[in-house]
Formats: sequence, C-alpha cells, structure tokens
Amino acid sequence: MKRLDGKTALITGAARGIGLEIALVFAAEGASVAVADLSAEEASAAARDIAARTGARTLGLALNVAAEADCENAVAETEKAFGKLDILVNNAGITKDNLVLRMKEADFSAVMDVNLKGSFLMAKAAAKQMLKARAGRIINISSVVGQSGQAGQANYSASKAGLIGLTKSLAREFAPRQVLVNAVAPGFIRTRMTEGLKDEAKAKISEMIPLGRMGEPGEVARAALFLAGEDSAYITGQVLAVNGGLYM
Ligand code: NAP
Repeated sequence: MKRLDGKTALITGAARGIGLEIALVFAAEGASVAVADLSAEEASAAARDIAARTGARTLGLALNVAAEADCENAVAETEKAFGKLDILVNNAGITKDNLVLRMKEADFSAVMDVNLKGSFLMAKAAAKQMLKARAGRIINISSVVGQSGQAGQANYSASKAGLIGLTKSLAREFAPRQVLVNAVAPGFIRTRMTEGLKDEAKAKISEMIPLGRMGEPGEVARAALFLAGEDSAYITGQVLAVNGGLYM
C-alpha cells in the first residue's frame, strides 16, 4: 500500500523545481496528480513525464494563480478528471528582489499577487469541495525568509510571512471539517530560483547553514508528502522548516 493510494492532488507551479518534485513524489506514492503551471505546454509535458515514470494518472493544466477564474477552473478540471480533490499544494512563487528604496510598487504587488493572493484564491476554490467532503489537505510552500526576513527581499519575505498567517487562519477555520492546513518553509534549495546566485554567494550561504549545504527539491517534496499523508493526521496550522538548520 502506497502512502497516497486513492488520493488526488493539485500542485501549482509544478512544471519545474520544487513543485515538479512534489508532483513526482506524490504520483510515485499512488496519487493522481494535476500539474498546474503558467505554460500549458510545460505543464502537460511534465504531467506526461510523471505518468510515464510512475504509472499514475496525471493531468496538465494552464494556471495563473493570481487570476481567480483560472484558480476556479483548475480546481473544476481536476475534480472533473479525478472525481474529487484531496490535496492542494500552493507552490507557485516568484521573486522580484531589490533593496527597498529601489523596489518599484509594481514589483511589490506582483510578488504579493502570486505568492500570497494566489494561495488564498486556490485555497478558496479547493476548500468548497474539501469542506463538503469533511476531509482534505492544503500545504502552502512558504520560505525561511518569511520567518527570518531578508535584505533585498522585502516583497518576497512579506509574502511568505503572510502565507504563514494565511496557513494558521485557514487551519483554524477549516479544522471543524477535518481539512488540515500546514506550511513548509524551505531554506536555500537548488532550483532555478537559486541557480542565479554567484558561486561565492552560494559558498557563503552554505557556510551559514548548520548542515553545510543547500537543500534538494526532493527533500522539500518528502516534507510535503508527510503533511499530505496519514502520518500527519493530528497536525494542523504548523510550519515545517526544511532548511538544514539555517533558522531555528
Ligand atoms: P521555480 O523553479 O522558479 O518554479 C516556480 C514555478 O512556478 C515555475 O514553473 C513558474 O512558472 C511557476 N509560476 C510562477 N508564477 C506563477 C503563477 N502566477 N501561476 C502559476 N505558476 C506560476 O521555483 P522553486 O525554487 O521550485 O520554488 C517553488 C516554491 O518554493 C516557491 O513558492 C518558492 O518561493 C518556494 N521556495 C523556494 C526556495 C528555493 O531556495 N528554491 C526556498 C524557499 C521557498 P514559469 O517557469 O513559467 O515562470
């Protein structure tokens, strides 16, 4: 028996990076997985690849999480294809880094719209059926900088701190219907989001991390798997840090 046999999941921003790894791990554990991303082609290609590698049912969906109609459509398409939605992972996220005095209002708003408002819109769309079913999991991918703050990332760290507040509020609101809501707060993980960092910066970051290295997408995916499965049935409103000890 696999850990997510019979479950269905929708993962946002899942064509690459951490989201792709979560989709792959969930599929390998028996879930039917909707892979949603900005590009329909990339989402479909990732969905096909995951199906070929795991034998799971998959679906590729075009989705901009900042648009409410897209969010409602992605949830409806997932429910149409798989019959229900058990697990939502709000993973889509962007950065537009700059020092505060140089940060444009538009760059603050764009990051808030995707990282924070997008997660609200997706949770709202997914919760309708989960609350009726009196079961469900929502997992929000926050960040260590939402806990610690970070120079040059006022917009991003505010969005990720906001996501922790959203997680706790949703957890309280949905708990009476057994819909559990938790966050994962990754540290520095090797994806496209961090590959632009200079080698010198990467070396400095690794020195600051007690475990002495950056994390891998699979290490975040396995934390999400824990929060999606039965082993976490009595856990809600929590933030699971996957950061090598960077922030305790
Ligand atoms: P990534 O490699 O940049 O992947 C993010 C994915 O989200 C991309 O496929 C991107 O599509 C998609 N996306 C962007 N805007 C979207 C939107 N409006 N609607 C739907 N999808 C959208 O990033 P990652 O490193 O895997 O990060 C995944 C999550 O982990 C993010 O929330 C990030 O903030 C968080 N995180 C990452 C790290 C890290 O060190 N990497 C650390 C802490 C937290 P396009 O490719 O088309 O833009």
